[in-house]
Amino acid sequence: MRPEDIAFRASSFDLPTDRAPIRVTWLGTAGFAIEHGGFTLLIDPYVTRSSLLDCARGPLLSNADAVQRFTPKADAIITGHTHFDHALDVPSIALATGAKVYGSRSCVHLCRIAGVPEAQVMDVESRRGEPARADVGPFSLRFVPSVHSAFLFGRIPMPGDISDCDQIPLRTNHYRCGAVFGVDIRVAGKRLYHLGSADLLDAHPERDVDLLLMCVAGWTTTPRFVPRVMGALRPGAVLLSHWDNFFTPMSAGATPLPAMQLPRLVDGLTAIDPSVQVGTVPLLGHVEL
Ligand SMILES: [Zn+2]
Repeated sequence: MRPEDIAFRASSFDLPTDRAPIRVTWLGTAGFAIEHGGFTLLIDPYVTRSSLLDCARGPLLSNADAVQRFTPKADAIITGHTHFDHALDVPSIALATGAKVYGSRSCVHLCRIAGVPEAQVMDVESRRGEPARADVGPFSLRFVPSVHSAFLFGRIPMPGDISDCDQIPLRTNHYRCGAVFGVDIRVAGKRLYHLGSADLLDAHPERDVDLLLMCVAGWTTTPRFVPRVMGALRPGAVLLSHWDNFFTPMSAGATPLPAMQLPRLVDGLTAIDPSVQVGTVPLLGHVEL
């Protein structure tokens, strides 16, 4: 099964006739642009897609051309965690667009050392386990405590916060994970949920999600990932993300990382709920709902 074999079609979702659609565009990795009512929300936008050699050599630089080309507009940027493939471009997009940034203390520190004005950055790291909330135009957001998949021989890669660096650029391994969020997004009567890493906290069920934006990388090493995600979120549809090789530029399109085991994942999801729609979109492709 190739990712394009399970691509969503324009007609995959029923569109209401009494309002404009919610458009969800995949930016590659766990990155999405969600647009409605003239507002644009970006989640984990990573369009620089540094090569493996650049990642090994470091330090990492955000690509201004890619940022301008692929994320020209943003009202808010949400960072689910601060690994480089989720956070590298966040400060430069914030500086270019003026968008407000919502993220962990680690994300706040990253933005601070990159020169993003303090008033433009919101710390939404959970206190006492309660999800922080924010409203952006028509979007209501909740930042649900979550956890990163421990795919690196049973360990979470680059744990801890970005806290001990005082300037950018940073090396790849300085993009520490920070606190991890799932993002609950409610807009125009629909509920979307962004799971940027393939694990979750069972103590935070978030049931009856219309569209789950789900990270694939790491799913095979997370114990009982499929039944847990289906039980906790009960999604009507699942848009698969973060299965692409993000060491190639945007112009190369999305090619799968090795060992994603997409057929087994799709089979597992649909075995639990035969009515769930599971699909992909091409790089920069979108669905509307
Ligand atoms: Zn990560």
